[in-house]
Amino acid sequence: MKFSKNKKIQKLIELSKEATMLKGIGEVLDWDQNVNMPKNAAEGRSYQLALISSITHQKVASDQFGEVVKSLDKEIKENPAKFTLYDRVLVRESLRAYEKATKLLKDFVERESEAKSKGFEAWKEAKEKSDFSIFEPFLKKLVDLAIEEAGLLGYEDSPYDALLDKFEQGLTEKQVEKILSPLRDFTVSFLQKVLNSNITIDGEILKRKFNTQKQLEFGKELAEDSGYSFDSGRLDIAPHPFTTEFGTSSDVRITTRVDEGNLPDSILSTIHESGHGMYEQNIDKALDMTILSEETSYAMHEAMARMWENPIGRSKYFWNYQYPRLVRAFPKVISLGEKEKFISAINIVEPGFIRVDADEITYNLHIILRFEIERDLIKGKVRVKDLPEIWNSKMQEYLGITPPNDALGVLQDVHWSYGLFGYFPSYSIGNIYAAQLMNKMNKDIIGINKQLQEGDYTKIRTWLEKNVQQYGKVLTAGEICEKATGEKLNSKYLIEYLEDKFGRIYKI
Ligand code: ZN
Repeated sequence: MKFSKNKKIQKLIELSKEATMLKGIGEVLDWDQNVNMPKNAAEGRSYQLALISSITHQKVASDQFGEVVKSLDKEIKENPAKFTLYDRVLVRESLRAYEKATKLLKDFVERESEAKSKGFEAWKEAKEKSDFSIFEPFLKKLVDLAIEEAGLLGYEDSPYDALLDKFEQGLTEKQVEKILSPLRDFTVSFLQKVLNSNITIDGEILKRKFNTQKQLEFGKELAEDSGYSFDSGRLDIAPHPFTTEFGTSSDVRITTRVDEGNLPDSILSTIHESGHGMYEQNIDKALDMTILSEETSYAMHEAMARMWENPIGRSKYFWNYQYPRLVRAFPKVISLGEKEKFISAINIVEPGFIRVDADEITYNLHIILRFEIERDLIKGKVRVKDLPEIWNSKMQEYLGITPPNDALGVLQDVHWSYGLFGYFPSYSIGNIYAAQLMNKMNKDIIGINKQLQEGDYTKIRTWLEKNVQQYGKVLTAGEICEKATGEKLNSKYLIEYLEDKFGRIYKI
């Protein structure tokens, strides 16, 4: 039995459904804004979104919701055996949502939302003009608000812990440092070896002109092959690829972008987003429309996407099967004889200024740099006005390059302008989860590479559904990792994977 027939649990499911579906309505509006909406509709849409968000907030912060959830929490503490695992997690997560909604007082939420919209506008202008000083006072305000938010939410050791917890439940600054430091040290020294190796790879093949419609069709086929269901989803074009769901696993939509002169950007984005999409589509239907019918953490969501994009989607085994199909889609642009050239090109390692364009090796350094800076900002150890200098010196230290201007440096990401602090680590932790799960999957599924060579993704799909995806929020990311791999999160699997793969490519 998943949820029990207990009357209060049934009541909580009903209340949870209302809040989840209202949030889902907001997501539909947001999806439409990114995919279909005409330019002049922006003002009306932002009013609609604010309205839905405030009604959703009222539902979760209501006395009725609070009473049901608090009395259930008390009963579970007294007699846990009376409740199922699903009941207990539903109550735990609902209580968490209720406390968050009531701890952040209306006055704070309003000030924060104003600071975010002003911050976002200032960031856009600053980035366009490549002038950090335009963004600086707004960023200072957003940092102060994040510190205030951490105080309202509560923490034990560091205010940064409270911010991390919004994305990765229970994860602390100290744990993140412990997980990321060995990865940083390995990557900095391994990158030197790559740069000193005699191998140079030419990426010319990827820059040829590939018809955008064909790119879209090919990406769609890959998504379908890997198991993303178009009966419960769709693929559209958006300026920044994203995945969205509307409170039910039966409607999970993905987007991608296409550029004639950048084939991998579109194809690998589509594979990445379909990985996100499959996660949401495979969540246990019994959780549908409840607060538990979503990803357990941002890092686990990212792991499900990156696993398809990188260890699978950039592997020679995957392309041994898919490359001939790619040639059939673009017979005048590439040839069968260029397969090795293509596989090498999608695995070039090259330090660059921009995070979203980074390869598998340098990507984590971009994240670690951001983590270290925002951790110190929240602790008050560094000043906002010194960020461009700190940024550039860390880029030099880790990647050996210095951005020529702030647009290519500290101003490149939108996150801080939205007040998102504590979010960046999820990207690298996602890579670490992906490698650790992949390592275990390789042991559980015999002949996984052979299956990839034959274009058969059934066993991979089933393994992920069974070990990770079905649980939604029923298990935390840490619990899923331990249950599936028998170990706590450990960056050694990612280090081993990177060392092995790129050691072969660059003959190190
Ligand atoms: Zn992603």
